[in-house]
Amino acid sequence: MSCVFCTLPSARLAGHNDHAVWIRDGFPVSRGHSLLIPRRHIASFFDATTEERCALLTLLDEARTAAIAEFNPDGFNIGINDGPAAGQTVQQLHIHLIPRYAGDVYDPRGGVRWVLPERADYWTGA
Ligand SMILES: [Zn+2]
Repeated sequence: MSCVFCTLPSARLAGHNDHAVWIRDGFPVSRGHSLLIPRRHIASFFDATTEERCALLTLLDEARTAAIAEFNPDGFNIGINDGPAAGQTVQQLHIHLIPRYAGDVYDPRGGVRWVLPERADYWTGA
C-alpha cells in the first residue's frame, strides 16, 4: 500500500494526538491550508469512531490557532471530500482547513456551495 497519509514522515507533522495528526497541505490553496487526518486508514468520515472524530476536531482547533498566529486570516472554510464522486483523491479521510483572506476571491458568498458552481449563487435568482 502506498497511501501518502499512512507514510507521512514525522517531519511533516505539525501536531498530533492519540487518534489523529495534522499537517500543512503540500499543495496549499491558501496560506495556512491544513489537513486533519486520522491515524487509522479509513476512507470516510462516517467510518470514524467518536474518539477519532473528537481527536480530529481537537486538532482542527489547534490548526486554526496556528494559522491565526502565523497568517492572521479573516475566515475559514472547513471541508471533507467524502468519496470519489465528491472529489476525494486520497482514499484516507482528511479534513481541509482552508484559511480565507478578505479579497482573495471577487465574491466569497456561498463558500463551499461552489463545489457545484451552477447552483451556488441561489441569491441571484438565476
Ligand atoms: Zn492511509
